[in-house]
Amino acid sequence: MAEEKKQKGITVTKDEDFSEWYTQVVQKAELADIRFGIQGFIVHRPWGFMIIRKIYEYLEKEVENQGHVPYLFPVAIKEENLTKEAEHAGFTPEVFWVTEAGDKKMEERFALRPTGEAQIYPVYSLWFRSHNELPFKAYQSRHSVYRNEMTTRPFLRGREFLFFESHNVFMTHKEVLNQIEEDLGTCKKIIHDKIKIPFLYFKRPSWDKFKGADNTYTPDTLMPDGKRNQLASTHDLGKNFSKAYDIKVKGNDEKEHYVHQTCFGPGIWRIMAALIGIHGDNKGLIIPFDMAPIQIVIIPITFTKNKKDSDKVIKKCRDLKKKLKSLGYKVKFDDSEWTPGFKYNQWELKGVPLRIEVGPKEIKENSVSLAIRTEQGRKKVKTASLDKEIIRASKKLDKQIEERADEYFKNRTKNANSLDELKDLIKNHKGFIRVPFCSVEKDGEECAEVIKTETEGGNVCGTLYPKEDNIKPNQKCIVCGKKANHIVYIAKSY
Ligand SMILES: [Zn+2]
Repeated sequence: MAEEKKQKGITVTKDEDFSEWYTQVVQKAELADIRFGIQGFIVHRPWGFMIIRKIYEYLEKEVENQGHVPYLFPVAIKEENLTKEAEHAGFTPEVFWVTEAGDKKMEERFALRPTGEAQIYPVYSLWFRSHNELPFKAYQSRHSVYRNEMTTRPFLRGREFLFFESHNVFMTHKEVLNQIEEDLGTCKKIIHDKIKIPFLYFKRPSWDKFKGADNTYTPDTLMPDGKRNQLASTHDLGKNFSKAYDIKVKGNDEKEHYVHQTCFGPGIWRIMAALIGIHGDNKGLIIPFDMAPIQIVIIPITFTKNKKDSDKVIKKCRDLKKKLKSLGYKVKFDDSEWTPGFKYNQWELKGVPLRIEVGPKEIKENSVSLAIRTEQGRKKVKTASLDKEIIRASKKLDKQIEERADEYFKNRTKNANSLDELKDLIKNHKGFIRVPFCSVEKDGEECAEVIKTETEGGNVCGTLYPKEDNIKPNQKCIVCGKKANHIVYIAKSY
């Protein structure tokens, strides 16, 4: 049995080798299978997919509450549409093309969507005629997009990855700003409050915004190796796409107006990666109660030499399962042949929030033993008060996950006042570094390049949004020494 454990459990600690720890959790908790055989295409295994489905459910419910309606577009994009918006055409080098059908070359090749704009907006130009049809808020969900990435990693970067995108159409820029506010709220409600992932919300510098957007806003978190993980993005598309795709409506004034647009894309994979990386511990995955595919596992402690007791234990476990299921919990009674110790490890590795153990002792005492994934040991609980105890334990688990994550994130921002200080800090500090900086418009890009080179990959994440950090009048850009107009955040990124 010891041998079995050694093979199945996580063999490195999260602190000593996060990268290896992450790989092992993804494989051993059966979240994804990377042996599919085409680089960058992974199998979402049931345990991982059930967690991801929950992320989708949260987001779908939230955006529909806000008035978005669902639709689904094909995977294909016409070539001429992909390049219509000049900056957006920058996606072309990452695109997969379908060029042949059977043994014949196609007359017109098409692209597999790298994101939805170029397939959705040509159709929008057919849909809207009058300002009375606006605002229009819609989203597509549970589909994949395709990009030719060179290095790939489950839930962080793939050639095929899961997507969610809303595409909204407005008459005014004021509505655009409201939408950005609403998207920020969605990130807070879902990514932080439900999934317990802390983040800072940034406005990206102009050189790092989405191809074709006026502005890009993103919640960024930090993985335990100190790298920035962009969890979502909202883009203020201005009228760039409506002009390129000819989306216009007749206004109150009887004149034609190009519409304003926004799009919002929570990174389903990136959120999953953050859940794994931030919540997990040296035993494996940890999942918020509501998100767990199995919330409570019941494990019988039986002894072959005492059949009568064993029968009682099994019966009690079955009764418990039935009762907990009827209360709405997702319950598993693990009556497999493995030893109890092996089962504990397995379910801990998979992040099941609560474990109930029942043995002859518990039968005698009319109790069960209850263990919480985030705590050591177990607690004896009277069977009669189990309902109440489960509610208490599930709330405690969620609170602990949230507090631990917030605490982890809180101490991850430091200040640097010179390039040398930044270079020094970025080597050991696994987090954001705040620095005074000249400009987040085009003229600041050169300084950002210097930072990237000097720090071996540090990126200017942007300025805090909606409220920037205060800057003192005498602060200077750490690169060019000119007057600093912003405090920006630096981090290496995935
Ligand atoms: Zn500068």
